[in-house]
Amino acid sequence: MSGVRSFRRNEFRASKILQERVRSHPKVELVLDSVVEDISGSDIVETVRIRNLKTQALRTVEATGVFIFVGFTPNSGLVKDPIEKDALGYVLTDQNMATSIPGMFAIGDLRKQLTKQITNAVGDGTTAAVAAEKHIEGTLRPNPGLAARAGVA
Ligand SMILES: Cc1cc2nc3c(=O)[nH]c(=O)nc-3n(C[C@H](O)[C@H](O)[C@H](O)COP(=O)(O)OP(=O)(O)OC[C@H]3O[C@@H](n4cnc5c(N)ncnc54)[C@H](O)[C@@H]3O)c2cc1C
Repeated sequence: MSGVRSFRRNEFRASKILQERVRSHPKVELVLDSVVEDISGSDIVETVRIRNLKTQALRTVEATGVFIFVGFTPNSGLVKDPIEKDALGYVLTDQNMATSIPGMFAIGDLRKQLTKQITNAVGDGTTAAVAAEKHIEGTLRPNPGLAARAGVA
């Protein structure tokens, strides 16, 4: 097969339209309910061994590359407590991008929000820049709830 094999444990979580696009693509083969057990090759990737979790059947397929999606972990170690974060480490902000520490703003992927896209990061940056100016002027209305929960009020 010259194309892409997509291995997944179970069903897709992407939007319906993207799922349909993948399913109908002639060069994509979906291998569901499976895990990759081994990636082999001499100098470069040559084969991948997969196990079907329902039948336990093993299958070895040829491959010239493997792309592993490991999920997201926010790189928020730089911003220490008492800044308020959620259980996963995403920084909480109000609508002005203000964090629980007055004068500190967080934007983009670091911040807890529904979507993680470039357009969000850019928009967040604009908001934070304007909010930071208002903070310096002393006209930014703080979010007392957020600050109180973080113990910095
Ligand atoms: C594989 C992949 C594909 C994507 N595709 C799309 C797409 O098609 N469309 C889309 O809109 N979005 C896409 N995204 C998401 C998009 O890249 C992010 O939402 C966006 O880059 C977030 O911007 P950011 O500025 O918050 O973070 P980043 O772009 O991650 O920038 C953070 C920067 O901070 C630097 N940094 C980290 N720690 C420190 C430190 N201690 N000191 C100094 N610098 C530091 C990093 O090196 C980095 O340059 C994709 C993301 C990935 C991973």
